[in-house]
This record gives sequence, C-alpha cells and structure tokens, in this order.
Amino acid sequence: MEAKLIKKAALGEIVKKIAGQKPVYAPIKEGSKVHFKFLKKGESPFLDYANTVNAPKNLFFPQTETLMHYTKTARGSELVEESETNGEMVLFGVRPCDVRSFKLLDMVFDQKKYSDPYYVDKRERTTIIALACRQPPYSTCFCTSVGGHPAQADGADILISELDDDYLVEFLSPKGEKLVKLFGDLKAADDQALSRKKELSDEAVAAIKSHIPATEIKTWLDNNFEHPFWDSIHQGCLACGTCTYLCPTCHCFDIRDEAQGDDGIRLRAWDSCMYSIYSLETSGHNPRPGQKQRWRQRLMHKFKYFVDNYDAISCVGCGRCVMSCPVNTDIRKIVNDIAQLN
Ligand code: SF4
Ligand code: SF4
Repeated sequence: MEAKLIKKAALGEIVKKIAGQKPVYAPIKEGSKVHFKFLKKGESPFLDYANTVNAPKNLFFPQTETLMHYTKTARGSELVEESETNGEMVLFGVRPCDVRSFKLLDMVFDQKKYSDPYYVDKRERTTIIALACRQPPYSTCFCTSVGGHPAQADGADILISELDDDYLVEFLSPKGEKLVKLFGDLKAADDQALSRKKELSDEAVAAIKSHIPATEIKTWLDNNFEHPFWDSIHQGCLACGTCTYLCPTCHCFDIRDEAQGDDGIRLRAWDSCMYSIYSLETSGHNPRPGQKQRWRQRLMHKFKYFVDNYDAISCVGCGRCVMSCPVNTDIRKIVNDIAQLN
C-alpha cells in the first residue's frame, strides 16, 4: 500500500481510537520515565519520548507468566494448561531497534523444531506499529553497528515517520492494513514527503555517533575463552541483573512450581546470567562461579554463541544496559577493547 500522511496532532487520537477497540501497549509517562504499558480507557500514549525504560519484549515474554494450574488428587495430578487466545492486540510506538529485537527473539522462541506456544500466541495476535527515530534518542544508541537503522523497521506492520507537520504512515503487512480504517482521513504521500522522509532518515543515521566494531570481534571470541582480558571486565559489577532485565534481546527464564495445599501453578519467570545462582547445580557445583565467568558468558552469548547458532548478533544497540547500569559498565567499551586485542 502506498505511503500516507496524517497531521501530527491527529496521531494521539488515532491511537486512543484503536485502544477503544483492542488492547494497546504503548509508551506511558510516569514521573520522569516512560514505560510500555497497556493504555487505560480514554488514555493517550505519550508521544514525546526518546525511548522507553523497559523493552517491549514484556508483551510477548512477560516477566512472570503462568503456564498451567494443577491440583493434586488421589490418582496423581490434574493439569490445566493456560490457553491464551484473548484476541488481537496492538503494540504502538516501538522504536526500530526494539522492532529488530523481535526478529532475534523469534529465532529462539519460534523455531521449526521448538516453538514456544505462549510467546508465539501473543506475537501472532499483535500488530506492531513502529515509530522511526528522527534523531537517535540517546548518545548511547549504536543500532547501526549491529545491523539496525534508526528510521527503518523491518518486521513492523506499520511504520510511522515524523516529518515536519505530518507523520508519514506506511502499512507494511496485511495485519497493518487491517488498521487503515481506524486511521481516518489519510492523504497519499507525495514525492516531496517521500524525499523529506529520505532526508530525515539519512540525518538520523548521521546523528548516530556511537559506533562499535561488533562484527569484528567474533574470531577473537572464538579463540580466547581463557584470555586474561576476562579477568577485569566484570570488576565493579554488582550482579544486579538490570542490564539483562532491560535488554530487549535477553530471554533467559526459569520454570518453577508454586503450591498452596493441593493446588499450585507452574510459572516461568525471567532469569539473569548475571546472578550467582543462575548456573548453580543441585550438587553445589557452579560452572560459572564468579562474576568474571558470568560477564564472559553475557558477552560471548551476544557476540559469539548467538552468531554461531542463528547468524545474528544478539544486541540491537538500544543502549539501555549502558544507561541503566548502576556502576557504568559499558558493553560498547568492552567490545572496543576486544577489538584492540585482535
Ligand atoms: S547492570 Fe551493571 S552492575 Fe548490574 S548486573 Fe549488569 S553490569 Fe552488573
Ligand atoms: S546488550 Fe545492551 S545495547 Fe544491546 S540490546 Fe541489550 S540492552 Fe540494548
């Protein structure tokens, strides 16, 4: 479908209208921070945001999720699996780096051989509306170093790009086209609008000043598991797990049962490779006994193991881990330092 234009002032109302028909998960301002949350009735999304504190992965892969209920009986246990088919949802206002994170999460959760029904169900019934970055939100953004682009959103159903007085709206998939009517009066985008989009897109790329040699360190990682470099990168790390919880591509989880009397639930909850008990075995042995081994795992997973398994780097350059680490651990510096060892 050809690109369309809407007046800037109309967008908030359009999203409010969509939210009147189906749940919309969108940026909401709380104090000085912006988080993805479900819009309440009559609520508009917050549009003047750089990026959200939390990653939108929470919608498809919640921090805690009930997988089944069980009841112990004389004959054993009766299990009732949670079945989530609650209708269509809309994820609005996703920045291009976070849209890319879904492609990476799909590689893990939606494989031919192993498909995670809880993730896939929510993913399939959600329409993703991306909002291009006109300027990179933060100095810590490095999406272009890991295969991303601040103004393109491969994987989104609708891409909205801010121009001067208008938004340019592109309906990129049949799922996206289903929402056309809710956008109301749309004007076809003329050549001037399209070339302005291209100009602003180029400016957004040029404005990204943070670059890392993310694709150049793989051979070093392949060959230097025991290098003395790993002895120092973790220093200062508090093992708080913030970097992994905010990361749009981190996806480790734990499954546990919680029971009360004869009834219980089986739930899954996010886990973090930064935690000391993450790899602790029942015998008491821990193959990653210190923060050094845990940080090496985090780096190796994103820049080597994921590349080995899926031919992609498991980082979209959103910079959340850099901005939120309480002791200023900077994954960009670590990658740069490794490149110097090459
Ligand atoms: S956010 Fe910083 S301190 Fe916390 S686990 Fe990550 S690297 Fe360590
Ligand atoms: S590792 Fe850091 S910069 Fe990369 S996607 Fe995760 S939070 Fe964003």
